[in-house]
Amino acid sequence: MPARRVRSQDLPACGDLEAFCHCFACLAASDRFRHERRKIEEIAVLTRIDLWAPVLGARRLAFRRNALQLLPMENTPTEKPHVVIVGAGFGGLEAAKKLACEDIRVTVIDRTNYHLFQPLLYQVATAALSPADIAAPVRAVLSKYKNVEVILAEVESVDVDAKKIKTIEMEIDYDFLILATGARHSYFGHNEWEKLAPGLKSLEDAIELRRRLLMAYEYAEKITDEAARKAAMTFVIIGGGPTGVEMAGAIAEIARYTLARDFRHIDPSQTRVILIEGERRLLAAFPEDLSASALKQLVDLGVEVRTGARATALTEAGVQVGDEFVPCRVKIWAAGNNASFVGKTLGAPVDRVGRVIVNDDLTIPAHPEVQVIGDLANFSHQTGQPLPGVSPVAMQQGRHAARNILAMIEGRKPQRFRYWDKGSMATIGRNKAVADLNIVHLSGLPAWLVWLFVHIIFLVGFRNRLAVLFQWAWAYFTFNKGARLITRNFQAEQRPPA
Ligand SMILES: Cc1cc2nc3c(=O)[nH]c(=O)nc-3n(C[C@H](O)[C@H](O)[C@H](O)COP(=O)(O)OP(=O)(O)OC[C@H]3O[C@@H](n4cnc5c(N)ncnc54)[C@H](O)[C@@H]3O)c2cc1C
Repeated sequence: MPARRVRSQDLPACGDLEAFCHCFACLAASDRFRHERRKIEEIAVLTRIDLWAPVLGARRLAFRRNALQLLPMENTPTEKPHVVIVGAGFGGLEAAKKLACEDIRVTVIDRTNYHLFQPLLYQVATAALSPADIAAPVRAVLSKYKNVEVILAEVESVDVDAKKIKTIEMEIDYDFLILATGARHSYFGHNEWEKLAPGLKSLEDAIELRRRLLMAYEYAEKITDEAARKAAMTFVIIGGGPTGVEMAGAIAEIARYTLARDFRHIDPSQTRVILIEGERRLLAAFPEDLSASALKQLVDLGVEVRTGARATALTEAGVQVGDEFVPCRVKIWAAGNNASFVGKTLGAPVDRVGRVIVNDDLTIPAHPEVQVIGDLANFSHQTGQPLPGVSPVAMQQGRHAARNILAMIEGRKPQRFRYWDKGSMATIGRNKAVADLNIVHLSGLPAWLVWLFVHIIFLVGFRNRLAVLFQWAWAYFTFNKGARLITRNFQAEQRPPA
């Protein structure tokens, strides 16, 4: 059934004063103002009621509430095409916003009730920010879009032939599907390492890492055995991509500045932070000059960087790196990714790490109604290589998938996707970062300021932006990180599957 778009002539005719509102309603009926359409229709109804009502504080509010209840539904739900978006991460949320206020039904399913800003997870893991600062409830984010509903559920599989999604509790039909369930870390066949060296993908991971980090110092403060104390104050990070670099820099900073005066029997500034990277340089996806700059900035912070080295064995006692055994209590995994298992249930071809190999328009073979985006998709039609697993790819694909659906509803073909690469950044510490902005490479303070600006802009929610800005400013001037809480994380012991 094709979607019916609201046209200005569909709106009820108005009287004299209401004609003014009607003009706005006509304007709102155009596509450009679709987000404002319902708001303006609400104002139109309110104005009509206010003509007869005393315009007084509380009573006005009561009228507003009643008026909203009087608003007619544009269409009955069953007549509208049903779009299901699985995953409210960067890709899924963008798609949902793009489909908001269209004449379709949108259902967003996620297994958590929040959208997580993963790029700042390392700040939760290193006690700079609190979990709520980098997460926003999905319902709240989408509450203003009346055609969008949110379901908290874990998707187990998709039956593309029956057009059904199976969650643990229910089955949901769809006309169009956008699958955006992201990725988790991969231990290259050594799943037993996950307990020894947690990765950083979820809030639970970040809280668990924070606990291990702070507990290591508490333990070191209590013991007298020098070797055990040194091992407790040695942190090994496996993987020298952006996450590994950010973690290494942040741990070195809190050891040298934030915790420096908090203990009586240990000197946290003597902490060893070791970053291990299998490739011959850090940040392999960045240009060579920025890799070299990142290395220098980390070394300035006291981080020991070992490139061209691999961790071959992990135990409670430490990490085997080539011929050397490094005794350490806390190990952090930042080395590899595995796509979410849901992709495999589509029956479409997947690559070595489980990403769904998509067509050039993000659809899967033989099912134009199914699109896969973000970290879950392998899109190699632009450069011959899969696009990187970064948030701009997921967001642009989310918007594109939504546009494709609107086109298909109107009987047009889905369009080919093209990624607009605006560059990449990695932060290392206070005034330390690298940024590849394509036309210019930045290092140090300028890169750090750009990084700060971009991360504040893209944080979801006004409250979060303010809270994060305030805490960053506080930490910048005082070196103090306020979220140094040791909380036990029961969920980390029972992680959800990838
Ligand atoms: C520590 C870290 C740092 C990063 N730093 C940067 C950075 O600085 N810059 C950058 O551009 N990118 C960065 N990234 C990458 C970026 O976060 C990802 O590329 C982006 O999140 C991918 O978006 P997505 O929508 O594909 O998946 P995600 O954002 O991961 O969202 C997936 C969603 O699906 C949900 N989900 C998963 N499985 C199920 C299921 N079975 N049922 C229901 N829901 C499910 C999840 O709860 C989640 O909400 C970083 C990633 C990490 C982990």
